[in-house]
Amino acid sequence: MVINFIDTFLQKLLLETVAQAHDHSPFWHEQLEATHEKAPLDAFLLLPVLSKTRAIAAGKNLYNQSLNHLQDRVYLSSGTTRTNNESLFIRRQACENEALHEFYKLEQKQHETTTAIKKTTVFECFNVFHGLPSEQPENVFRAPWMYQVNFPELAFTALEDALVYSQGSIDLVRGSVSALLTLALIAVDRGLNLAKYQTKIVSTNSYELTPRVKTILQQVYQPRVILNSYSLTEMPGSASKCPFCKAFHFGEPPIYIEYFSPYDAMLKLEPTAGAIARLVLTTLYPFVQRTPLLRFDTGDLVRIHSFCEEQSRWGFVPVGRAASSIFVPCDDGMQPIVLSGEFYSIVDSIPEIKRHPHPIEVLGILPGNRLGMPQSQLFWREQTLIIQLAVNEPAHHAAIQKQILDGLCATHPLFKKKLQDGLAIKFEFREILEPLTTANVNLQLGK
Ligand SMILES: [Zn+2]
Repeated sequence: MVINFIDTFLQKLLLETVAQAHDHSPFWHEQLEATHEKAPLDAFLLLPVLSKTRAIAAGKNLYNQSLNHLQDRVYLSSGTTRTNNESLFIRRQACENEALHEFYKLEQKQHETTTAIKKTTVFECFNVFHGLPSEQPENVFRAPWMYQVNFPELAFTALEDALVYSQGSIDLVRGSVSALLTLALIAVDRGLNLAKYQTKIVSTNSYELTPRVKTILQQVYQPRVILNSYSLTEMPGSASKCPFCKAFHFGEPPIYIEYFSPYDAMLKLEPTAGAIARLVLTTLYPFVQRTPLLRFDTGDLVRIHSFCEEQSRWGFVPVGRAASSIFVPCDDGMQPIVLSGEFYSIVDSIPEIKRHPHPIEVLGILPGNRLGMPQSQLFWREQTLIIQLAVNEPAHHAAIQKQILDGLCATHPLFKKKLQDGLAIKFEFREILEPLTTANVNLQLGK
């Protein structure tokens, strides 16, 4: 079978990845043997996608058994920050450190060739659960993002140090949306002026930057630019917005990307501009060796943007979770009428909607209810689209309903059309909503 849409470089890495996984990981050995294909690429293309639940159930059998590191560790997923529910993910520190090491080597090469980058002052909130940075360049000032009472003090001290080093202007402030939002809100509460850092770029990752959060970050840090990247706890690196095509591409280390049908995990799609697809990713050897993930189903939907001539690959735009997006049958197959990312942006802008408690708030570091995910969900019940919301009373239910329906109509012409055609929708207002069950995986790995 010929695949002509990946370049030789990725194909070479993929071949090596499959060979390594076949030879050293019991789980992948079994899976690849079951395809009865001798050629690694053909066997790979017959593999079913790997769900997170299945990967966790596979446990240590996923690991490359020829590598015998001690760091068989599992970390809590960032799903915790959204729902306050513990879930587990399978990336291990050893794997991440390898990837980071390669990444920094590449970054270092760029530094050597570009003196302008060498002088850049960076403030970074790094997630301790994602592995510790292997190097400490003098121009990078770090604070560990963790749910501990001294987080703000460590971060504000690092910011001050960065300011002194940079002599007046910090080039880049980066971290997860939660970390940078936490600092921004604490600064507002304490009357601290973060605009004095004259930040050029604020760069966020981990999850979607809603208009509400973007406004807060803009007002507090007052950067020239805010960038958002797409990342997953299971994958090294991240995808960021391309200056040429304005869509997302993964940077270093390289990741092998495939697109699958949003509602049929067996159906691989050829990239088509505008199509909504499920993002399926494969980590590549030698950047990830400890826990090879082949055809890992991110559970995330993307809109395939266009083929980027500049980068010679397709760009994509994340649009939310597959499990909480709503599709309806149409003449040309199933089509989305609500994409969870867009729905989330709408409910995030409505102050009456309660939020799931965020660990930082539970610890009392930040008062109020401003960090967690909005308590909302939508799903089909028989032929009716149910929208459940937990709201602070007194709330004007009719106004909230209107705001959500108007928002959905504005983002999806098809939603508007179905609504006009008599789509049944029921709003249910609750005092509290249980966190989504996708985070309720309670298995441990490697302990
Ligand atoms: Zn591009």
